[in-house]
Amino acid sequence: MTTSHAEREHALLSASGSHKWLHCTPSARLEEQFPETQSTYADEGRLAHEIAELKLRKHFIEPMGPRAFNNRLKKFKENPLFQEEMLRHTDTYLEYVQGIVHGFTAPPYIAIEKRLDYSAYAPEGFGTGDCIIIGGNTLHVCDLKYGKGVPVSAEGNPQMRLYALGAYVEYSFLYPIERVRMAIIQPRLDSISEDEISIAELLAWGESIKPIAQKAFAGEGEFVPGDHCRFCRARATCRARKEYYDPLEDFKRMKPPLISNEEVGQILERARGLAKWVSDLEKYALAECLKGNEIPGWKAVEGRGSRQYVDQDAAFAALKAAGIDEAVLYERKPLTVPAIEKVLGKAEYRKLLEEPGLVKVEPGKPTLAPISDNREAITRPSAADDFASWSDFNPQD
Ligand code: SF4
Repeated sequence: MTTSHAEREHALLSASGSHKWLHCTPSARLEEQFPETQSTYADEGRLAHEIAELKLRKHFIEPMGPRAFNNRLKKFKENPLFQEEMLRHTDTYLEYVQGIVHGFTAPPYIAIEKRLDYSAYAPEGFGTGDCIIIGGNTLHVCDLKYGKGVPVSAEGNPQMRLYALGAYVEYSFLYPIERVRMAIIQPRLDSISEDEISIAELLAWGESIKPIAQKAFAGEGEFVPGDHCRFCRARATCRARKEYYDPLEDFKRMKPPLISNEEVGQILERARGLAKWVSDLEKYALAECLKGNEIPGWKAVEGRGSRQYVDQDAAFAALKAAGIDEAVLYERKPLTVPAIEKVLGKAEYRKLLEEPGLVKVEPGKPTLAPISDNREAITRPSAADDFASWSDFNPQD
C-alpha cells in the first residue's frame, strides 16, 4: 500500500518524532493536548515531496510520456508555493535514487511513499518511507528532507531505523535482506548523509527501544528536556523545560568571585536553549493574549506599521513624471555568490566562476560550538585576542 503525501497521518509514536519520545518518554502523550500546527515550510516540503514522488513514479513505477508527466507537473506548478528550484532539487534526489537502482545487475524492487508499519517495536507505530529499494541482500531506505535548516545525519538516526524495521517486517518473507543502507538527502543544503548496518544490528536496536516505546505509549517515565524540545508541541508551557533553566540561579551563589572555565562550560550548555525557550514563551503568551486569556503583566498591542506603496507602478510613474531621475529610484547591486549559483544552477556556476578561479572561499570566523558538533576542533592563539579584546577596555581610560 502506498500513501500520498496529502494523505499522511501520524502515529502517536511517529518515526519523525522518535528522537523526542525516545529521549523524553512522556512527551508523546503530553503533546496530544496541543493541536498539530501547519507551517508554510511544511507545506512547501509537502509540495516538493509530491513533485519528487511524481518523478520517481515516472522513472521506476509507471512510465509516462512527456505529455502525461507535464500535465501532472502543471498541477503542482499552479500551487502558490511552487518555486522553479524545486525542480532542480528534486532532480538531485532522483539522481541519487537512480544511482542506487542502476548499481544492481538485476532490477531491484522499488516502493515509493510506502506506509511502513513498525508496531512490532513501538505500539501502533507506522510512518511513510519516501523510497524503499531492495536488491540482492540489501534494503535501501531513502528520505528526502526539503528543509534548509541544519544537515541531519543518517548515522544512528532513529527515524531511519524505524522505517527500516517497518520495511524489514514487510519484506523479509520475500527477500533475503542482510544489510540496510539508509540515506537522508537534503538537496537545499547540498547534504547527503548515509549509514549502513547489518540486519542483526537493526533488530538488536529494535529490541533495545521496545521498553522505551512501551513507556512512551503509556505516557510514563521522566520528562527529559534537551535539544529535542524544539520540536515538541508542549515546548512553551512544559514544566520540566522551565525547571531545566531554574538551576541557572545556582550559579549566582558560587564562590570565588571569578567563575572557572568549567563553570563557563556548564552555564553555556544550559543557557544556549534559554533564548529559544523565552521566544517560545513569548509566542505562546501573545497567542493567549490575542485569544483574550490573561497573562498577568502582559498584553497584546498593535505592532509598528510599515509604509507600503498602494500601487508601486503608479507611484514610480508619478515620481518620474515629476522629474526624479531613475538612478535615484533604483538600487543596482551585484548578486552574492550563493545567489548567482542559485540563478545559474550548479554546473553553469562551476564552469563560469569556480573553474576559472573567480571565486575564493574565505575561512569563516572561529565560532563556539558544543562538543557534539561534528566539525573538527581548532586552536588559533593569534585570533584569541580578537575575541578577548573587550577585556582590555577600561571605561576609566
Ligand atoms: S518540552 Fe521537552 S521536556 Fe517537555 S515534554 Fe516536550 S520534549 Fe519533554
